[in-house]
Amino acid sequence: MSDLLELSAAEAIGRIEAGELSSDEYFDAYAEAAAGDELNAFLWRAEPGSHGASGEPLRGAPVAVKDLFCTDGIETTAGSRILEGYRPPYTATAVRRLGDAGARLLGKTNMDEFAMGSSNENSAYGPVLNPRDRSRVPGGSSGGSAAAVAGGLAPWAIGTDTGGSIRQPAALCGIVGLKPTYGAISRYGMVAFASSLDQCGPLTRTVDDAALLLAAMQGRDPHDATSVGIEAGVECPTRTDLAGLRFGVARDFSHHAEGVEPGVAEVFERSLATIERLGGELDEIVLPNAEHGISAYYVIAPAEASSNLQRYDGVRYGLREPADALDALYERTRAAGFGAEVKRRIMLGTYALSSGYYDAYYGRAQKVRTKIAEDFTGAFGSVDLIVTPTSPTVAFELGERTADPLAMYLSDYFTVPMSLAGIPAISVPAGSAPPPGGGTELPVGLQIAAPAFAESKLLDAAHAIEGALR
Ligand code: GLN
Repeated sequence: MSDLLELSAAEAIGRIEAGELSSDEYFDAYAEAAAGDELNAFLWRAEPGSHGASGEPLRGAPVAVKDLFCTDGIETTAGSRILEGYRPPYTATAVRRLGDAGARLLGKTNMDEFAMGSSNENSAYGPVLNPRDRSRVPGGSSGGSAAAVAGGLAPWAIGTDTGGSIRQPAALCGIVGLKPTYGAISRYGMVAFASSLDQCGPLTRTVDDAALLLAAMQGRDPHDATSVGIEAGVECPTRTDLAGLRFGVARDFSHHAEGVEPGVAEVFERSLATIERLGGELDEIVLPNAEHGISAYYVIAPAEASSNLQRYDGVRYGLREPADALDALYERTRAAGFGAEVKRRIMLGTYALSSGYYDAYYGRAQKVRTKIAEDFTGAFGSVDLIVTPTSPTVAFELGERTADPLAMYLSDYFTVPMSLAGIPAISVPAGSAPPPGGGTELPVGLQIAAPAFAESKLLDAAHAIEGALR
């Protein structure tokens, strides 16, 4: 049984195909493991024995889904009190496609409220614990998904990434996390945070598994006009070397950047050496505007959030705090239903969009966004892929950054620029390093970014690197 929980999903599916394992046995092993969740990774779990349909290619494999995806008849809270008790009348396209591909819903995973956060401590349902060290955060906002996969409670999971929410928790938990190109996967049925940035993607134990989930979910969807799919499709990664591939490293936007822990920088340097050993070429590039990513993101994302979150008013969904007048009902419901970080962002975003400030903040941030996208386009003129550390630090202690939002925001220093540019990026386990004060070594991730819709190339390179670093 424990052996079963150590297989990658692709390996287990292979055993099912070979007749050595039954889909039901595989599902129940995980349903039972998830029932013993001590990490607070799940907000809802399927019962062992609740075997739905299974089919090809995923053969009934259980999948954990971030609680940001609408699931027909199953409570969907987005980690917020304001959606407590909300049972959507439909299922998100990404989840529906997984079902069509033969996967079964294992559970809904805990997350930072409305996907705002980098530690999962903003969940209204309590923090998630990092399976490698339970006194530390798993990262966020897809922290429940990352902890479930790393902690053996789910073989694989999906999450969403607006500025790093798949890649950063994957790095902090020691697994693979892929943010696809914006538009690769439909956002229909994903509770909206910042619509021009939100993208669904896989959190898995291997690069192969990430490719399998991406292939099942990607594609154009008539319900989301921004979804285009990956026209060339997603190939199964096979590369074991990096011959002929050029990797860009930006001096100021990698291990030499301010705030990068020495242990993380060391692991990154070793990763660069591994890339060269596999036949990859390292080229110095410049991304002059990437360092402004966080500033632009924290204007654009809250601006979009302030608009998207207007719909939670106590009338249409979830929580309602009764009052005598309509305005009072809105105010009381929102005061009770939203957490501190969500309120902070609604205020920031509303301010940035208000007349008189719109050009100075929102307009300006959009210009910076364009500059960052142009930096990447320029760099990809001479390199195939770009590498950075995924997170400047290893997993931090629970409570360490909750009082300091700015320190928390810097967790996404390396991941936000790719989100602003809409390009795909993956985090693969690169090794481990002790936290600054010393102690048990914790996982470190390597981020690899590619041009838009070059997912197959990205996964292929990640596959070779994963093989060498493991
Ligand atoms: N940590 C970032 C934020 O708080 C990114 C979140 C995300 O990608 N959903 O906004």
